Amino acid sequence: MELTLKRTLVIDDSRAIRELLSAELKNLGVQEVVCFENGATALDYLHENPGKVDGILTDLHMPRMDGLELLHKLGEMNYQGGVIIVSAMEERIVQLAVQIALSLHVHLLGSLEKPINLERLAQLLFRLKQVRGVPVRPLELIKKRELIERLEQGHVLPYYQPKVDIQTKQITGVEVLCRLDNPERHEIISPDRFIPVAHRFGLIDLLTDTLMAQCLAEIRSLRDWDALPHDPALVSINLLPSQLYNDSLPARCTSICDHIGFDRSRVVFEITERQVLSEPAQLSTLDRLRIHGFGVSLDDFGTGYTNIRQLRELPFTEIKVDQCLIQHIVSDRVSQVVLESLIRIAAELKMTLVTEGIEDIQDYLYLEQAHHVIAQGYLISRPKPIHELERWMHAWYKEHGAANIRQIR
Ligand code: C2E
Ligand code: CA
Ligand code: CA
Repeated sequence: MELTLKRTLVIDDSRAIRELLSAELKNLGVQEVVCFENGATALDYLHENPGKVDGILTDLHMPRMDGLELLHKLGEMNYQGGVIIVSAMEERIVQLAVQIALSLHVHLLGSLEKPINLERLAQLLFRLKQVRGVPVRPLELIKKRELIERLEQGHVLPYYQPKVDIQTKQITGVEVLCRLDNPERHEIISPDRFIPVAHRFGLIDLLTDTLMAQCLAEIRSLRDWDALPHDPALVSINLLPSQLYNDSLPARCTSICDHIGFDRSRVVFEITERQVLSEPAQLSTLDRLRIHGFGVSLDDFGTGYTNIRQLRELPFTEIKVDQCLIQHIVSDRVSQVVLESLIRIAAELKMTLVTEGIEDIQDYLYLEQAHHVIAQGYLISRPKPIHELERWMHAWYKEHGAANIRQIR
């Protein structure tokens, strides 16, 4: 999906840099670029235009207010856009900037060294678009009637994307990603086109229940499912934050698991942090899912609202680091330091850490040599239907050795 950004700021005391960045950002599809010579005037502008600025590119060394102080102030004013630092980042500054970003929840997206490399600028802008972009052309949502038809005719298709331990190559689980089948038109409909419709017309719980019953039964019938590890859990299912308002959720999910004979401790619910999670009703459902034995994962971490203090207080068993922090991590010291901090925090809080969106072999190799994480992404496997997943699992173990699987046949 092609995305665009409405407005970004460029803060730099060098006029040449301001002009270069402004021209390039417009080339890359930003609709409006507003430039400032220092952080103080930029902050005034942000206070006068709340919610109107998608991203900020800022120098670190400027008269009146340096970049770290600016990061602090952005955190204090709860700025929700992305921030890119345009400056050489010494190691000490990277560490400080990441600390500020994680504790005050500033979306620090990376750094751009001078002289400016346009390919790197494009990468960072892509990240910003993932966090804040709006579609150039609105997505074509399906009609309510079609959704009901698909549900009634049993055309809900679970696709599975495996997750692997990047060190041991053990398959640690699968994320279930919903598709709708339209056999007449030979079309597989992607979730972006129907999840918003299901949400809007009150059909999302029915969709989740249908998908859950179907995917647990399919996984249960996999020849090797008993051989997969119990810890971390096996099946991840997505929920919208709004579904936590329905207090029947834990009981419904429990009854689906019990009916199929699926151990609840092997199911994790992923809840995106793109929307705020703070209402008592939502938190209480999260707690109750935990009490019923399910795992809960904070999805898309790095794109939303949770700061480290909240992370410590919420009952999550897993953090799923968003692809915008993982893509190009091999050449991005800021993302590397963010991931290192998150790995430490996850270990301290006894949470599983999953990195998603691994597409590039260089990023994979970096993660493999630097960290013990669970990894998911197109490079390992695209989401696929159950019979293809089974074939993929066999091929994977053939390639990486089946030492860790107890009884693969
Ligand atoms: P998500 O939960 O963040 O899922 C990850 C998305 O990233 C999936 O898109 C997956 O196919 C894609 N992905 C995986 N690896 C890579 C990679 O290496 N590179 C890139 N660029 N993308 C990768 P998908 O399947 O289109 O799903 C989109 C979103 O729809 C999901 O994002 C999730 O929020 C939502 N969704 C899917 N199924 C359900 C569901 O059953 N219930 C709810 N509430 N939401 C769902
Ligand atoms: Ca997810
Ligand atoms: Ca995600």
